[in-house]
Amino acid sequence: MTAHGHKQLGEVLVELRNVCKSYGRGDKYTEALRGINLTIREGEFVALLGPSGCGKSTLLRIIAGLIGATSGEVLYRGKPLRGVNPNTTIVFQSFALYPWLTVQENVEAALEPLGVPRLERTKRALKLIDHVGLDGFETAYPRELSGGMRQKVGFARAMAVEPELLCLDEPFSSLDVLSAESLRGELMELWLSGGIPTKAILMVSHNIEEAVFMADRLVIMDKNPGHIVAELNNTLPHPRRRKEKAFLAMVDQVYGQIVGRTRTEAEELGSAPGEPGATRALPPAPISAISGMLERVNEELTNKIDIYRLADEFVDDYDEILPIIEAAELLGFVNVEAGDLSLTPLGQAFAEGSIQARKEIFAARVKRVPLIRWILTMLKAQPDQRLSWDVFIAALSREFPPEVAERQLDTAVDWGRYAELFSYDNSDNTIFIETEHPVPQSAVPVSEHPTSES
Ligand code: ADP
Ligand code: MG
Repeated sequence: MTAHGHKQLGEVLVELRNVCKSYGRGDKYTEALRGINLTIREGEFVALLGPSGCGKSTLLRIIAGLIGATSGEVLYRGKPLRGVNPNTTIVFQSFALYPWLTVQENVEAALEPLGVPRLERTKRALKLIDHVGLDGFETAYPRELSGGMRQKVGFARAMAVEPELLCLDEPFSSLDVLSAESLRGELMELWLSGGIPTKAILMVSHNIEEAVFMADRLVIMDKNPGHIVAELNNTLPHPRRRKEKAFLAMVDQVYGQIVGRTRTEAEELGSAPGEPGATRALPPAPISAISGMLERVNEELTNKIDIYRLADEFVDDYDEILPIIEAAELLGFVNVEAGDLSLTPLGQAFAEGSIQARKEIFAARVKRVPLIRWILTMLKAQPDQRLSWDVFIAALSREFPPEVAERQLDTAVDWGRYAELFSYDNSDNTIFIETEHPVPQSAVPVSEHPTSES
């Protein structure tokens, strides 16, 4: 142990070299991981963060040897991994216990296949049941336990096996806030005090604070296909306190990595369907959410807010704030830097504008978005300036999976309608160009009325 409660780094346990993984073939083909390089050493607690679908669980399963990589090398202690990795155990989000066995028997059951003698099994089980805070519940059955307690049994069972590498796949996300926090505490205590022989921990999390609280290194992933975007070392001393400045600064830094990707405008906006280059998918963010967010940032004297605080106020899960921020950034309303979201002058004008001013600002921006431009061009080419929804879906489906194509068009219509560029006709399932006459204000759906102006 070092002065700040960190463990000394030792030998390399896991090494992934250019690992790729795809599932299925033909139209079921999914590229889940591409070009993953990752090293985990003894003494490290590594967290994997990223949006759902970026291949975090796939990565754990490859390291545990439950599935093979499609290409690339998977080394454990320098040797190519073949078949199930006997040195790792995965704890899943919700652990399946044998309902007919008691807590103690459930933990012991994991040791039987390993040939651990009976007395030793009992000894280890009792010790771990105590360690995870279940002392006194040895003879209880799973149905008598709360969800949090059952997950503790799951942890005890995983740790009883004494894996060298403990893999955790969102282990706290099915628990209520209090149970999750207490179990995190117990695990950190065990890990840092050397109460378990585990040499390294790899934890998948969707919770930035949790990752900053526990891990020494944060590996940030993104999807389509799953790849590593950044790795950040977290040297905050243990025990970590969530309210401390340094802790919050670290959380900010991680948010910055996740949200703030600086690209040129052309790269940012992408191309339209049919043009060369990748069509930029519109972030699925409704106008009401974008304007609500801009108003909130505008309430700050500095026109700037911690994304972490914003997410806390607005959504349950940081994943949900990302499309809203991305949309606002795409439209030029905000800048993202080091975990802070700040309004651009345009964003401020929008937040403070009347409904009509907002619509104009929005329309000017949204016309620059290639997907919207493309829809307008297609509509203008028609004699009645009208085209069926399905025609657009068919065109979009060449570049996006069907459900993404639908979502793209939904978002485009939501934005186009607000900007009074085009609208959707329910009666014949068509998209059409709005007439020159402005929509009377009473016809604007309630959700689009900014609360400050009512
Ligand atoms: P995460 O854990 O980050 O949410 P996953 O590893 O579960 O991501 O999934 C990554 C991608 O691989 C997703 O697109 C998912 O649909 C796909 N995928 C995962 N498991 C399978 C499977 N067994 N068969 C086909 N596709 C899969
Ligand atoms: Mg997963």
